[in-house]
Amino acid sequence: MKVEAGHSPTSPVSIHDLTVAYNRKPVLWDVDLDIPEGKLIAIVGPNGAGKSTLIKAVMDLVPKASGKVMIYGNTFKKQRKLVSYVPQRESVDWDFPIDALGVVTMGRYSRIGWCKPVRKIDYKRAMDALERVGMSDYARRQISQLSGGQQQRVFLARALAQDSTIYFMDEPFASVDAATEKAIVKVLSDLRSSGKTVVVVHHDLQTVREYFSHVILLNMRVVAHGRVEDIFTEENLKKTYGGRLTLLSEAVERMARH
Ligand code: ADP
Repeated sequence: MKVEAGHSPTSPVSIHDLTVAYNRKPVLWDVDLDIPEGKLIAIVGPNGAGKSTLIKAVMDLVPKASGKVMIYGNTFKKQRKLVSYVPQRESVDWDFPIDALGVVTMGRYSRIGWCKPVRKIDYKRAMDALERVGMSDYARRQISQLSGGQQQRVFLARALAQDSTIYFMDEPFASVDAATEKAIVKVLSDLRSSGKTVVVVHHDLQTVREYFSHVILLNMRVVAHGRVEDIFTEENLKKTYGGRLTLLSEAVERMARH
């Protein structure tokens, strides 16, 4: 295999010299990261830090001003089957007339092929995925008629049905109910047990230690990244959040209590 300079061929996601700009204004600057394999990784940083943009840049959903991303040493285009994405709930059109099973079955299309009929095995995998998130009773319910937390679980099931190697999730815990939070945590830990790499944009500093093994602290640049116990420190959080001290001091207080 040809190894690109600056990239680790064994890293699930190797990001080198990445800069992303909207309307010529950079929002991510010179990001270098080798995401570790088989870990649960939180991307943490203030609003507007570029967390969603980082995921979108990896998935070729926004143009890169410079730099490259390699998925196991190859381009995203060549490796897209290895990658699943759960977008932010607000970015999805929930009025689209489709039921929960339909949404989850869409996760199988990359395996079925777009114009081919859905096979029994695909429905079975889709139903299994709904079961894993506690939504099998709602398989035939229109997605517009589900609660926010239930919609989030259906999108998680869609990613599970894809049976990928790498999962990106953009704020899956944002404004969900307790049952959904529990279901998501269980799915994250199952994915980790089966050796998958899971990268989650996460805004709740309180639960970072509990839910994740690794963390990327981001504020336009990568402030620090590595194992939670090494990186998730008061000093690094201060560097990441700068002046937003109210939020920070609350988080630090809670950390101290753990
Ligand atoms: P985060 O996920 O950390 O809140 P984002 O990646 O969503 O940050 O956004 C980073 C910056 O880029 C913000 O200042 C945001 O306003 C800006 N931004 C995001 N998407 C767009 C877009 N499509 N066009 C222009 N600016 C954008």
